[in-house]
Amino acid sequence: LPVCLHLYFYTQANRTKSTPTFLLLGPSGAGKTSFVSLIQKQSSNPEEKESEPSPTRTSQVKTNVSLLLPGTIPLGSNKYRSQNDASLKDKHPTPYSIIDTPGHGKLRLEHALSQLNNPALRGVIFVVDSSVLDSSDSSASRDTAAYLHDTLLALQRRLSDKGSKKPKAALPVLIAANKQDLFTALPTGAVKDRLQSEIERVRVSRSKGLSAVGQDTDEDEGDDVLGGGGEDKFTFKLLEEEYDTKIDVIGGAVKGEEAGKGVQRWLEWIGGCL
Ligand code: GDP
Repeated sequence: LPVCLHLYFYTQANRTKSTPTFLLLGPSGAGKTSFVSLIQKQSSNPEEKESEPSPTRTSQVKTNVSLLLPGTIPLGSNKYRSQNDASLKDKHPTPYSIIDTPGHGKLRLEHALSQLNNPALRGVIFVVDSSVLDSSDSSASRDTAAYLHDTLLALQRRLSDKGSKKPKAALPVLIAANKQDLFTALPTGAVKDRLQSEIERVRVSRSKGLSAVGQDTDEDEGDDVLGGGGEDKFTFKLLEEEYDTKIDVIGGAVKGEEAGKGVQRWLEWIGGCL
């Protein structure tokens, strides 16, 4: 068999063993816990209401939450099947899990980004609070952008990891622009623009730091700069073009008057990765 087919079967076999997993990231207060609680309630059996109390979660440890994606949500792996395919009619819920991580300062890099090597990982969900992004000078705005920058850079490095034997496929990223119910929230398109321009600022200041310590003459320079070392301003599209990393920004609200709005689209994004 050609090598690529071996690799294909190997990957398929591995996939059936472990539950597909998503890594949930984002600054503290963005709504990660609320999001997981909401979809946990939705995915538990409605007839067994309240039978499974949601676990008490301390903010210092990561938690692995087992969930079921409703059978009504289309799966990416079914995309090319015909509508008449019998397997599509059963509409069984699909098991998956979410790894929730602490959002605080230094801990997050250790705990969260080390999870990127988890072989069951299918994607990264990065939750942002759309209501703190209105001013680019706010510390919350800078903190969000720095965390997202570090996450995307870790995803980029993961692909060029020379120590690993198997080539890794790029992981897709969902940026969940949460708290769209608040009147101070930036609309989804503006959240995307703000994040891109804030990340560009982080990228510029980091690459200045690199050249200051004399690392910019290194031939691997591109791998240490998000999006590569090119002249272009940072955009999510650039990461897709250069590193095959697809980033979707989708707005929603977990709580408030419009609680649940957009959550369906986040679940559809998850389904698309399964
Ligand atoms: P985490 O630190 O990322 O886990 O954030 P939490 O889930 O603990 O949420 C932080 C705060 O934001 C809580 O007071 C939530 O009730 C609130 N919150 C979360 N999502 C929303 C939302 O969509 N709209 C509004 N208005 N508040 C939200």
